[in-house]
Amino acid sequence: MNGIRAQRRLRLLTGLAIALCSAGFASTTRAEQPMKNASPSLYAPHSERGRYFNPWAPRSWSFLDVLKWKLLSRNRYDKSAPLQVPRVANDGAGLAGFEHSATVTWVGHATFAVHDEGDVFLTDPHFGPRALIPRRLVPPGIPIESVPAHAFAVVSHNHYDHLDEWTVERLPAAMPWFVPMGLAEWFRGRGRANVVELDWWQSARHGRFTITCLPAQHWSRRGIGDTNETLWCSWLVDSGPRRYFFAGDTGYFPGFAEFGQRLGPIDVAMLPIGAYEPRWFMQHQHMDPAEAYQAFLDLRAQHMLAMHWGTFDLTDEPADLAPRVLADAVRAAGGDASRTVVMAIGEQWHVPKSAAD
Ligand code: ZN
Ligand code: ZN
Repeated sequence: MNGIRAQRRLRLLTGLAIALCSAGFASTTRAEQPMKNASPSLYAPHSERGRYFNPWAPRSWSFLDVLKWKLLSRNRYDKSAPLQVPRVANDGAGLAGFEHSATVTWVGHATFAVHDEGDVFLTDPHFGPRALIPRRLVPPGIPIESVPAHAFAVVSHNHYDHLDEWTVERLPAAMPWFVPMGLAEWFRGRGRANVVELDWWQSARHGRFTITCLPAQHWSRRGIGDTNETLWCSWLVDSGPRRYFFAGDTGYFPGFAEFGQRLGPIDVAMLPIGAYEPRWFMQHQHMDPAEAYQAFLDLRAQHMLAMHWGTFDLTDEPADLAPRVLADAVRAAGGDASRTVVMAIGEQWHVPKSAAD
């Protein structure tokens, strides 16, 4: 009896920890159909009494859903098989120097190092050993020390698998950070003064880059009682010759079609494909691989880079399943698999020259 009770308590604690660090502890929505004319809601006010929300997705989520997921629902996946996550050796030296080209290196999870001409930027940099509780399954693709001093970073939201204190402390103290509303204070509190806070649809200039904060369908939480006090977002980083879209964490929503129409042509779309089961609970905050592929089509991007898999075990499906499901989805849709790129951790991918070059 005590054993069962202890097991239940452990499951609950694990659930709470996972909920805190990535999946929906507080703000998720019920299965709402996207609004018919979604565009206006993408531009609508999205905060109320100090909390942010997704205006196109009515709020109706509860803590009970977490309990239902963790305590009552049965995981239909067998996770006993060893994970197959490819990794290639990379000392990060490729981030130095200048070339008339661009590469994207996958560090793992939602972290990419983009090397565009002579500049470098990072997305949701996480090189650390844990995402609060879940431990890192595969070492980061490049050493954190290889990030050049002139690099800048964009951060999508404050969940522990996207915003990592261990990493922030080890990156150059003067590094410029671009963050969504409400998150600058966290950085300043850690001596990181070079931080630009943006709301959805706002842009900032950094050298030759235009960096635009865009809506995403997600939520935020870092500690007790701070649910949705800081905003979540995706990013468009325009270097001039190339446009990069970084989705952060998001459910599938009408924003992708809007971005594709308004902000294209997009060269590279970094899209999350993992941490999507069970769907009844996750679909509002995390896309599954088929939705990520649809988002790529909506964005009308040249290439999709898959992310948010293989690095942390966050949800019901095995952490290495998403790429296989993505391949099936692309095949079923009659898509061009050469445009949906699944990299190895540490792999450096060369951005093909666009027709405009
Ligand atoms: Zn998240
Ligand atoms: Zn995440």
